Amino acid sequence: AAPLSFPAAADSDFSQPSQRDPFFQALQKVQTQLGQKVQPWIAGQYQATPQAIPSLNPANPEQVVGEIGLTSPEQVEEALAAAQACFPLWKRTPVSVRAGILRRVAEQIADQRAELAAWMVLEVGKPIPQADGEISEAIDFCRYYAQQMETLERGQERHVPGETNRYHYQPRGLAVVIAPWNFPLSIACGMTVAALVTGNCVLLKPAEQSSVIAAKLAGFILTALSEAGIPAGVFQFLPGVGEAIGPLLVKDPRVHLIAFTGSQAVGCQILAQAAQLAPGQQHIKRVIAEMGGKNAIIVDESADLDQAVKGVINSAFGYSGQKCSACSRVILLEPIHDLFLGRLIEATQSLNIGDPAHPSTQVGPVIDGEAQARLQQAIQSAQSYAHLELSLPVPERGYFVGPTLFSQVDPQSDLAQRELFGPVLAILRVPNFSTALEMANATPYALTGGLYSRTPSHIEQARQDFAVGNLYINRDITGALVERQPFGGFKLSGVGSKAGGPDYLLQFLEPRTLTENI
Ligand code: GLU
Repeated sequence: AAPLSFPAAADSDFSQPSQRDPFFQALQKVQTQLGQKVQPWIAGQYQATPQAIPSLNPANPEQVVGEIGLTSPEQVEEALAAAQACFPLWKRTPVSVRAGILRRVAEQIADQRAELAAWMVLEVGKPIPQADGEISEAIDFCRYYAQQMETLERGQERHVPGETNRYHYQPRGLAVVIAPWNFPLSIACGMTVAALVTGNCVLLKPAEQSSVIAAKLAGFILTALSEAGIPAGVFQFLPGVGEAIGPLLVKDPRVHLIAFTGSQAVGCQILAQAAQLAPGQQHIKRVIAEMGGKNAIIVDESADLDQAVKGVINSAFGYSGQKCSACSRVILLEPIHDLFLGRLIEATQSLNIGDPAHPSTQVGPVIDGEAQARLQQAIQSAQSYAHLELSLPVPERGYFVGPTLFSQVDPQSDLAQRELFGPVLAILRVPNFSTALEMANATPYALTGGLYSRTPSHIEQARQDFAVGNLYINRDITGALVERQPFGGFKLSGVGSKAGGPDYLLQFLEPRTLTENI
């Protein structure tokens, strides 16, 4: 096997009090800093905004985590002009300096691991160990993309007598990054640093639900830029509501590239808007869009059921199912259907649901009241056509939705086709393995998929025919590691190469060939 070239940041070991305690101290400290203002950073300074909205703790919505200043359309304009003015300088900044800035961002994230996790607990309801894993991922993105860019920078040279040829990459220009709330640090960080290290000026629009955490990231980037003596206009931070300022950014003719992670509906809108040529625009915009999934795990009659139950639970209910990689369909082969379902129900019943700040909590709240209402409605209406096996009780206060299992699900129904982005799992029954694969592939998405099996022919068939970007055999289907498991899908799950993979940065660059006759 090829040796791993990239050392991933280690997660914390919560069995060690010395590693565990700082997280609880940080939670107390952060509680004293709630309600702080998040302001846009535009043209080298923080700016006041005409309007602000609160960011609430989803486990306790009376608690205001931060006041999010909403970037106005005039401020968007100012940010675009400032980014454009900085591009010539940033483009010429050596890759070694740009890579150094990413490594400095990684260092700051690592130094503030416990506090960042505490903010994630409070702002997006992510349980501590899951927040910890996300912090490792953010560090890995910085270090990996720094290393990748250094490799790409070498380009290639081909010389023949009388002629030299050099192939190299140049930045595209202005990059708009539109980030999601479900990985508020790592995905915002990955897209932003990829755009920066490749020499593009970045305008970051974080999700409104997670702008306090995004502001921490912005602070690290600004520190690293200023320590390297780079003008702060290279990076602009634009908190705001997607519908209000997203289109202004995406449609602007000065923008060259949009990196987006979020829903399929918004991703497709961005693709359509980005394809329109504005008057005077002289380039085609590149869109990288990581979108949804309706991911399935197949469990066959040869599977180790203990392993499969654990893997399904982690994949379906980790961060309350709010990952685009999450498992939302389990496809069971006839002979193990009843046995597996019985065990799955028992294991689901043993999950601890509650305050994500509590060390034993496995399932916290969903992101906001709107998500809670949407999921409750979906659970309600699915009861008319599928069998509700279980829906766990939840705390009264906070935006909780209990892990929910439906059996006897029609593969064409909403429950089996539509991404719900919550802790709701559809269980499907099939007579044989080929039907299982057909059913797994019968959605418009192709992001992650899993198989639990000890039958070599089934594993081989899945390798060939399971149409997903990330296929996992006999393990969880979430938690891809940077470099080891480059992450991303196809079909309606996205366009653009995989995050944390060897082709990702290429999308942020324009390749050029220089030939000289000598
Ligand atoms: N990369 C994450 C994983 O492998 C999922 C990212 C997402 O939900 O957008 O679980």
